[in-house]
Amino acid sequence: MENIKIIVAGPRGRMGKEAVKLVQDTAGFELAAVLDRKYEGENLSNIEGFQGIDAPVFTDAEQCFSAVEADVLIDLTTPEVGMFHSTAALRHGIRPVVGTTGFSPEDLETLSALTEEKGIGCIIAPNFAIGAILMMKFSQMAARYFQDVEIIELHHDQKLDAPSGTAVKTADMIKNIRDPKVQGHANEKEILAGARGANVDGMRIHSVRLPGLIAHQQVMFGADGQMLTIRHDSFNRASFMSGVKLAVEAVVKLQVLVYGLENIME
Ligand code: NAP
Repeated sequence: MENIKIIVAGPRGRMGKEAVKLVQDTAGFELAAVLDRKYEGENLSNIEGFQGIDAPVFTDAEQCFSAVEADVLIDLTTPEVGMFHSTAALRHGIRPVVGTTGFSPEDLETLSALTEEKGIGCIIAPNFAIGAILMMKFSQMAARYFQDVEIIELHHDQKLDAPSGTAVKTADMIKNIRDPKVQGHANEKEILAGARGANVDGMRIHSVRLPGLIAHQQVMFGADGQMLTIRHDSFNRASFMSGVKLAVEAVVKLQVLVYGLENIME
């Protein structure tokens, strides 16, 4: 079988660095190019931290996708840039695997329409940590029996979007299982705006941002006389890479947009 040729966007980022390493270290994966904000025309091997990794650096997505023969784009940048890269990649017949978080429902619709038009796959995964996917699945199971739920997501203080894509996704998965419910007291009043967190169908999402954290989430279910807490912690960015690998291997066989790694896991 031929190697899967991959472009990594955001290679100097915390996630991007791990993704470059993953591509380098995985049999059957080949780094075709990287898409960065700087170092146009350089070779990645000349950039600090990437010695010995041979790949051309592009700063212009259109130019990169036209010049490089690639099967998959792994995007780990920012929401605006990630959306631009993903639409451009699909137009060039390159399948995006997007870890960048903060895509809107409209963005997903646009990408979904493009995948259908082009007949090629795209995976958007707000969380690549397999343990986090299981945390979401277990939460969805628990929501059959526990109607009251609060989600607390905790991330490092450089995260741009809140709440996290994983928290929104968890709430969406629970929404599909339980009946809508206004939680807390009917006459509840916020003395300070935001005290009760974001409201998704009556569920509350609370976002904590602190240095030292990576990516953590706990889903708390309360009922008479009992509480169930389902928690997942990512302690480093390597924790996401087994999910990236799974997504790259899956996207080359897909013809549609898949949102969420859980949809490609058994
Ligand atoms: P980060 O360290 O800030 O890295 C982002 C990288 O993107 C930076 O190197 C930045 O370059 C680069 N970039 C910005 N604009 C670009 C452009 N136009 N072209 C190419 N590269 C560009 O962030 P991170 O922690 O790696 O996270 C990246 C994304 O992944 C975020 O959206 C984050 O929420 C998400 N994330 C997802 C998962 C998951 O499991 N799905 C897990 C963790 C993080 P500069 O340094 O020059 O600005």
